[in-house]
Amino acid sequence: MAQIGQILVDVPTMQTNDPYSYAIPTELEHQVQVGMRVIVPFGRGHRLVSGVVVGLSDVTSFDGKLKPIETVLDLAPVLNTELRQLADWLATTTYAFRITCIQTMLPNLLKTQPKRQVQPTTTLTPAEMATYFPEGAPRDFDATKLDDATVAGLLKLQRAGKVEVVYEVKDKAAAKTTTGIAPALTPAKLQEIADKVAKRAPKQAELLVYLAQMPADKVVAQAAVAKKAGVTPAVIATAADKGWLTKSTLEVYRDPFHQPVTPTRALKLNPEQQVAVDRITQAIDGQQSKNFLVEGVTGSGKTEVYLQSIAQALQQGRTALMLVPEIALTPQMVNRVKARFGQRVAVLHSGLSKGEQYDEWRRIDRGEATVVVGARSAVFAPVENLGIIIMDEEHESSYKQDENPRYHARDVALWRGQYHHCPVVLGSATPSLETRARAAKGLYTRLVLSKRAKAQPMPTVHIVDMREQLKQQGDSDFSEPLMTAIQERLDRHEQIVLMLNRRGYSSFVMCRDCGFVLKCPNCDISLTLHMDTHSMKCHYCGHEEAIPHVCPNCHSKKIRYYGTGTQKVQQALEKLLPTAKILRMDVDSTRRKGAHERILRQFGEHKADILLGTQMIAKGLDFPNVTLVGVLNADTALGLPDFRASERTFQLLTQVSGRAGRATKPGEVYIQTFNPDHYAIQLAQSQDYERFFVTEMHMRHQGNYPPYYFAVQLTASHEEEAVAAKAMFQIVAALKQGLSKDAIILGPTPKAIARVKRKYYYQVVIKYKQEPQLRPVLEQIRQAAQVPARHGLSVTIDSEPMNFM
Ligand code: ADP
Ligand code: ZN
Ligand code: ZN
Repeated sequence: MAQIGQILVDVPTMQTNDPYSYAIPTELEHQVQVGMRVIVPFGRGHRLVSGVVVGLSDVTSFDGKLKPIETVLDLAPVLNTELRQLADWLATTTYAFRITCIQTMLPNLLKTQPKRQVQPTTTLTPAEMATYFPEGAPRDFDATKLDDATVAGLLKLQRAGKVEVVYEVKDKAAAKTTTGIAPALTPAKLQEIADKVAKRAPKQAELLVYLAQMPADKVVAQAAVAKKAGVTPAVIATAADKGWLTKSTLEVYRDPFHQPVTPTRALKLNPEQQVAVDRITQAIDGQQSKNFLVEGVTGSGKTEVYLQSIAQALQQGRTALMLVPEIALTPQMVNRVKARFGQRVAVLHSGLSKGEQYDEWRRIDRGEATVVVGARSAVFAPVENLGIIIMDEEHESSYKQDENPRYHARDVALWRGQYHHCPVVLGSATPSLETRARAAKGLYTRLVLSKRAKAQPMPTVHIVDMREQLKQQGDSDFSEPLMTAIQERLDRHEQIVLMLNRRGYSSFVMCRDCGFVLKCPNCDISLTLHMDTHSMKCHYCGHEEAIPHVCPNCHSKKIRYYGTGTQKVQQALEKLLPTAKILRMDVDSTRRKGAHERILRQFGEHKADILLGTQMIAKGLDFPNVTLVGVLNADTALGLPDFRASERTFQLLTQVSGRAGRATKPGEVYIQTFNPDHYAIQLAQSQDYERFFVTEMHMRHQGNYPPYYFAVQLTASHEEEAVAAKAMFQIVAALKQGLSKDAIILGPTPKAIARVKRKYYYQVVIKYKQEPQLRPVLEQIRQAAQVPARHGLSVTIDSEPMNFM
């Protein structure tokens, strides 16, 4: 019997990846298992902290007296072997702590710390009462919120046996329950009693007959029994007293998906889809951890490929995990999976309440749900026996978490694919450069869907040169050709999607006459406007220059910040088109729960002619009546100070264009731009991903950017600018000493948005090809940062960052 537990403790200001040894008290010996959460005393003050059991043993190298585990929080392990191994791998690759990784994997409800209270066990002196219970007993006991003297005093009283700590372990009771009913006698016996009591108590007889035909091993909710047998709870209570039935606690799941969906069946695949499904199912059948890139133009029927591959995995008795960028933005995708697989589907997303999330997680944990759909964190769903993992729109940056652990869901998916010997399918019309480059190297098998599923033509894309429009009709958000096209659709009762790109809003200056954007002479990255210093800065290399008042390219004076708001655009549009009905979808109009779905539903029911929105509307929408897409400002993302600016622009324009003409009516797209000659815009017009890939790879090669180089970003932040800057200079010194000459170190520089939430940010970017010392050096930096962390300095390490802002 194990007497010692290895516990990873959660102490935010003193983290370590090494577990601590704790004694397992005899009364807990049969309870403690690896993968359970516990409460343990920590440090000299015996502060109570939470932790996770990662090992059990009966010897230890620790020769002092071990502290005992205080409480076990779980009745069953919350982490299985796979997820524990995954947490270790995640901690190493993302420079995060193991405990942080574990917490990221658990549903929110299990992350909350149990509420502790302290209460006297005997009569305390008036002085003790006044000191420790000024507002009466019991009191909340949160060691992190109380001052040290109070904690020490209370613990002293606890050791003297004068007070005790009680836990309000909410999550043990978090599963929602109801009363369940099961027959207690054989059907024959029940029928016999029913016959006997029929005359005297007809209601009881009815219940007995119902019980007699119930399957022996089944438990049915009391409410359901009452309804089906047509009896009151009183009748059931009597039957229980007489020993005809037994009552038990039955776990019920809150249904997170309220909308009913109409079931669908597998479609007949076109030849390209068939090839894709064949290749994927071969890997499923062969239990191969083979990875695929499904590169399919918008509307090519990638979803049908996913669904039929999932069906094959299920048929083999295995499970499926499907990741989507953001559930709220893709309700249509969730509905399509539900429509095919019904009750077997569990949906995990942040829009659910904590309780609903927990319910879905338990259904997965128990193996009741075999198809899991969810956004980024669903990649940690405790599904066993995976037969396939799918990642739709794999290029989306929301798959990368921008807080610790800074993981990319794609990397986790690939890890799990290896673990389960199952294929991972990455799908997109515009794959990330990293993924497409890996496919070129043969690491992924590329499956191409080159045509739309029902052979509809791709939409015709027009580029509108806004420099010309400005000369002809002055400063307006709507060009002449776009307005004409909108009017035509309104006359024909067809629908229109208009996108206003809000990304990079106002952070750069652009010439309205020639489209010129000021760039860094060293890095070829847009300079960012800093209003605090009234200057333009490169936040890669630190280059700084004055805000221009005259365009360096064409000498025009119309060089200024670029940007406008959706509300303003809506008002302008309403003036121009007084009879058109317009729905707006942006951060403001979607703040409330379910707002996305409501707006999309209204648009789907043709309650509006125009859907005007930010890049939220670019993804996944499949509305047959949309024949026109307008992009009001294609340039904002181009001006971002990020080496992925062109990639993002191309992806966004291609995705949003793909919303047009998806059914029988042909689609048309108008892209308004001040940079009509830019390759990202030109290639979005021809919707030529492959040419974009080749062009952009060339640019990346020239600039030594990923995927040719790996990148790590370090950030230091503090309320005082000097402290953040100094820390970053010290880090750079350590990097220069520890890394080889081949590593390129950019910075330190203040961040593009240097001051956020009253803190100053300084960053450095390391670009490298092979750097064996990188991990130990960064590990050292991380450890060293723990002490100053107590004084408000925070240092983050981001491997392969998605945002350089
Ligand atoms: P993508 O995800 O590649 O943009 P979708 O999966 O949304 O494309 O498919 C576009 C449309 O084509 C959908 O309405 C879908 O139902 C339809 N579709 C897909 N495959 C087939 C098929 N084999 N036969 C008929 N219609 C199909
Ligand atoms: Zn620069
Ligand atoms: Zn100019």
